[in-house]
Amino acid sequence: MSKLKVAELFYSIQGEGRYMGVPSVFLRVFGCNFRCAGFGMPRGESSAEVETIAFAHANTPYTNYRDLPLVSTGCDSYASWDPRFKDLSPMLSSDAIADGIMDMLPYEEWRDEHLVITGGEPLLGWQRAYPDLLSHPKMRSLKELTFETNGTQKLTKEFKDYLHVWTAPGREVTFSVSAKLPCSGEKWEEAILPEVVCEYEDVGTVYLKLVIATKQDFADAECAIAAYRAAGFRGHVYLMPVGGVESVYAMNNRNVALLAMKNGLRYSDRLQVPLFKNEWGT
Ligand code: SF4
Repeated sequence: MSKLKVAELFYSIQGEGRYMGVPSVFLRVFGCNFRCAGFGMPRGESSAEVETIAFAHANTPYTNYRDLPLVSTGCDSYASWDPRFKDLSPMLSSDAIADGIMDMLPYEEWRDEHLVITGGEPLLGWQRAYPDLLSHPKMRSLKELTFETNGTQKLTKEFKDYLHVWTAPGREVTFSVSAKLPCSGEKWEEAILPEVVCEYEDVGTVYLKLVIATKQDFADAECAIAAYRAAGFRGHVYLMPVGGVESVYAMNNRNVALLAMKNGLRYSDRLQVPLFKNEWGT
């Protein structure tokens, strides 16, 4: 039986993108190919907020994700990929994950809820383990599945074939692609990979979700959108305000909504910030 290194497994409302407002189980797997230390920082600078938290964890370990401090700069899900926090993410079998999901669903079975597999970057090596979980008897009634990805990882042939079968009539897989613009601190040539994202459209619905804080970010977003369209990308594009903490989110959300309207693009909120303060497990 396959195992996944699970950073978090929780039940909440999807706060972003196409399924905003839908009750959802979030399976956050461990590991990412990026660091995104530039979020919320002046261009060219990197956040060091997590250093203090990692130092504290090395001395008096946190034992639960929900006790970890939130950050206002850098990646807001840092503990799901930073090796210094890997002890908080156990390896769980498909049985254990499916049982955990049943325990958190209101009727102990899938009804109108949807499953979000997120990270970290969920399309790294874990692609080989998902079929075992998705084929589990307790996952039989699941109808809608989203991968929240940074859009840099190709689907393996085996996983693509599996998803083709899984998405038989009545089921849908979505790829929510949060492509990392330069404000993340990641390099354009490593982060904006239109050919990779276009391939996701072979098996499911794909949309882009671009994080915006400044005019420069929007200029970068326009270049990225042009590159994806030139490669044949057909999906919707959402602009989403930067802001893992309420103070930063509240400075940006209205402006980003106006910008989306003005340019005929979709707006994604971050409902988990005003509703739940973006705490771990929400
Ligand atoms: S790609 Fe996502 S999970 Fe990975 S470092 Fe960036 S924001 Fe964090």
